[in-house]
Amino acid sequence: MTSLLPTTTLPYQNPSLPIPERVADLLSRMSVEEKVGQMLQLDARDDLDDHVLRRHVGSILHTSPERIVRANELTAQTRLRIPLLVGEDCIHGHSFWPGATIYPTQLGMAATWDAGLLERVARATAEEVAVTGIHWTFSPVLCIARDLRWGRINETFGEDPFLIGELASAMVRGYQGDGLDDPTAILATAKHFAGYSETQGGRDASEADISRRKLRSWFLPPFERVAREGCRTFMLGYQTTDGVPITLNDWLLSDVLRDEWGYTGTLITDWDNVGRMVWEQRIQPDLTQAAAAAVRAGNDMVMTTPGFFEGALDAVAQGLLPDDAFDDAVARILTLKFELGLFEDPRLPRADLSSVVGSAAHAELNLETARRSLVLLENDGVLPLDPAAPLRIAVTGPLADDAQTQLGDWAGGSGQAGWLDGQPRDMITTVLDGLRAVDGWRVTHTRGADILTLEDDPRGTHFPDKQPRPPVVRPCAPDAAMIAEAVADAEAADVVVAVVGDRIELVGEGRSTATLELIGGQNALLDALIDTGTPVVIVLLASKPLVLPASAQRAAAVIWAANPGMQGGRALAEVMAGLVEPSGRLPISFARHVGQQPTYYNQIRGQHGDRYADLTQSPAWAFGEGRSYTTVEYSDLELEAEALTPDDTVVGHVTVTNTGARPARETVQVYVRDEVTSVSWTDRELKAYRQVDVAPGESVRVRVEVPAAECTIVDAAGLRRVEPGAFTLLVGPSSREEVLLAAGFRIG
Ligand code: BGC
Repeated sequence: MTSLLPTTTLPYQNPSLPIPERVADLLSRMSVEEKVGQMLQLDARDDLDDHVLRRHVGSILHTSPERIVRANELTAQTRLRIPLLVGEDCIHGHSFWPGATIYPTQLGMAATWDAGLLERVARATAEEVAVTGIHWTFSPVLCIARDLRWGRINETFGEDPFLIGELASAMVRGYQGDGLDDPTAILATAKHFAGYSETQGGRDASEADISRRKLRSWFLPPFERVAREGCRTFMLGYQTTDGVPITLNDWLLSDVLRDEWGYTGTLITDWDNVGRMVWEQRIQPDLTQAAAAAVRAGNDMVMTTPGFFEGALDAVAQGLLPDDAFDDAVARILTLKFELGLFEDPRLPRADLSSVVGSAAHAELNLETARRSLVLLENDGVLPLDPAAPLRIAVTGPLADDAQTQLGDWAGGSGQAGWLDGQPRDMITTVLDGLRAVDGWRVTHTRGADILTLEDDPRGTHFPDKQPRPPVVRPCAPDAAMIAEAVADAEAADVVVAVVGDRIELVGEGRSTATLELIGGQNALLDALIDTGTPVVIVLLASKPLVLPASAQRAAAVIWAANPGMQGGRALAEVMAGLVEPSGRLPISFARHVGQQPTYYNQIRGQHGDRYADLTQSPAWAFGEGRSYTTVEYSDLELEAEALTPDDTVVGHVTVTNTGARPARETVQVYVRDEVTSVSWTDRELKAYRQVDVAPGESVRVRVEVPAAECTIVDAAGLRRVEPGAFTLLVGPSSREEVLLAAGFRIG
């Protein structure tokens, strides 16, 4: 075969030239077909030859190890040999790589409230991802959790914009490392820009009924932060707002993101956003018009709309787009490829991955993260259990030994990637495994309940775009024999550990839930176990806040474990045995009843009353809550100054005393209340927090700071500003008003 390789080095192939020069040279050599193809990211599970050789794609996603190598062989056959960008959803570890380290879900990680730890997790993930030939992760998610019925709550950092900003910024730093020329750096993606989580009834990708002012108030700030800090890519969500899909939202994409924030990074649509405008949202008559509109709106990369290729070319042929309409987008994509050094080294999967992927050091980091992610919600003193005592522990519940469910969504077994069923069982410590490993204890095990069965959706197994339609969930009825077996075991035990929650079929895209209750036989199981009188520790292994049955108020302890990742069972056993202190804090409020939605703490003040006729509005557990094995008191909040200018910093000092007998890692939370605002506003907002270790009997004086310039609201004109006047600094262990110390100050 004759080589297609140019014999001389062209300017774009010369690594010593500045990147803008290389981009301009390459762009000048590209045909319009090659430019349109460069804007496409297609599914590597489809026809790779067609993607690369006919459609000239710039990027692929969802690729197995073998297909990365194959794709690279194909690009070597193309005229300009432009390397591919390879993307994947590595959102809590290298999700779909067999044997990679899978961490707690993003919501679980958020319960650590530890930005430094999350930066390390993202760095370790980037190391694993980079050696496998993948250059780009579609993470982190900056959506704000609102309606808990939404299936993607687990992918968020919870309900607070400040906490989201802190944690997202840390993960972006971790992924992108010290610069893209570092071979362990990968591109981060801030998603889903913006307002996607403002669902109707929790339904996925519904119209986001949200004003520009509300976006600016709470939904945009985390995105603005990472945009200004250099997150290299942004993904546009599925939602429409005021009838306009984000893909065409000129105000958000151009006025806000590009002009106001000065963002120079690359935009990628979500899955088939361009096609959806035709077949789903029906706001474009055909792909020609849809492609033209998407290009005009400033989209750079188009995810999985193969017909964008023909559509965009047709738009040029019809005069809807000029030939050079693609240049800015293509230049941005090529810039990323040059910055990553892909023209010199396409960063193919390394032959020996074992020292990096799933390494012992990453397992250790994962264990640390899992420990810190656990939130002790209730404890009557039963915990910690004595690891040296000869305790008989009855472990029960459908999730006690369910290794893949423990990993949660976007992990080996969650179904988005077809080439693996799950992660290796021997890398995962289930709760049962973890408890069995505690030397002194005798552990017995029953299942106790089933959760669900599945049926094909009567409307068909696939959507019109050929994507699989999630099957319909049928809750299992309580099984008397299973419950009787678990009860008999519980009666003979010193302590019951009941592991209940949700399963992957109730989690994720298109899998929002109408209820928040434990489904199947789980409530009946808990009722029966609690009636035995043996102390019951409920481990709620749930992707998102769920509602426990009334009997749970008589449980001895409740721990929320989100989806705690591969080391989750070990971390749980260590916490239950008191080898590790529980320190997680809720990044999201738990409802008592699904009808309380929404339950987030920072709602706008001014409604009539504060309860339903038949139920309090108070959540079961509020944002920021979480217990230790000790008791902690806050006292003596003092401000250094009470009259400030907008350039000053509010500085407070508070005493945190460990009044119990065990160490505490306390998350000191700092909220600000703006007493009178020109427009309605939330009563208090998290503005800072600090984590401090306090030994038993000790007091520490903790300094907290909030720049006065952060004490802002968004006014009626949509401008974020400090309104001079009276404010209150609120400091304490959670967002609940009754536990916060208050000190007034004025900004003049
Ligand atoms: C999701 C994105 C994801 C993409 C690629 C979409 O359906 O909304 O979050 O990154 O698929 O897998």
